[in-house]
Amino acid sequence: MTTPRQLLADARLDAVDARVLLQHALQVSRAWLIGHADDVLPPAQAAAFEALAARRRAGEPVAYLVGTREFYGRDFAVSPAVLIPRPETELLVELALARAGQGARVVDLGTGSGCIPVTLKLERPDLAVSAVDISADALAVARGNAAALGADVVFRQSDWYAALAGETFDLVVSNPPYIVAGDAHLSRGDLRFEPQGALTDFADGLEHIRRIVEGAGGPLAPRGWLLFEHGFDQGEASRALLAAAGFLDVQTWPDLAGLDRVSGGRLA
Ligand code: GLN
Repeated sequence: MTTPRQLLADARLDAVDARVLLQHALQVSRAWLIGHADDVLPPAQAAAFEALAARRRAGEPVAYLVGTREFYGRDFAVSPAVLIPRPETELLVELALARAGQGARVVDLGTGSGCIPVTLKLERPDLAVSAVDISADALAVARGNAAALGADVVFRQSDWYAALAGETFDLVVSNPPYIVAGDAHLSRGDLRFEPQGALTDFADGLEHIRRIVEGAGGPLAPRGWLLFEHGFDQGEASRALLAAAGFLDVQTWPDLAGLDRVSGGRLA
């Protein structure tokens, strides 16, 4: 005779993780769980929760277990083919929204789940939004999110700017892989289960940022903005790269934790 209350008490998990996994296993709301905490559950439902709880105890991210993660107030489907959307990436979205003029052409490089371009398009339907990723599996997730949320975004497979030759954008945004090879975070927590090629360049952390900054001259229109996310200790290097590539108004913005998180600049 198992009840939600018992399952949660015996889960040996963080309380919020356990509740979210139980809601997913039972396909119920948080309010339902509170009202039915002492209901006797069918054994199959209890077993479904136990299976999820065991995977969580083994380290699998909650977002992959339930298949979604909230970003900018909307639910995005995620799978191990894509990075799990992070709250700090909302800063990149806000900075982009503040700089995109009416009808601006925007591209997101390395889109993953598509959370950045889909959010931009839904917040600002006037924008012409496209996105690229090198991974076909990631693009399938991103296209699914755009369709499910009703966002008209054009997706293409591309190694950064490679497939965009001849196109012009007013704004380029990116959350590229920027973690230094061998960084301890890569072997801890959720990151162990995420696509390593979406997290690290397997080098000094700036490999992709260099390519994105140095390649922006062709695709970016005059006075166009480039904005990209980076590590807490990469602000200075990012600004140096932007300045060397001829960008003006070069700045770094801190995330809500006060850490350098996004840098960018404007072409002359
Ligand atoms: N912000 C992520 C982390 O440190 C990394 C994301 C990225 O490499 N783009 O967990």
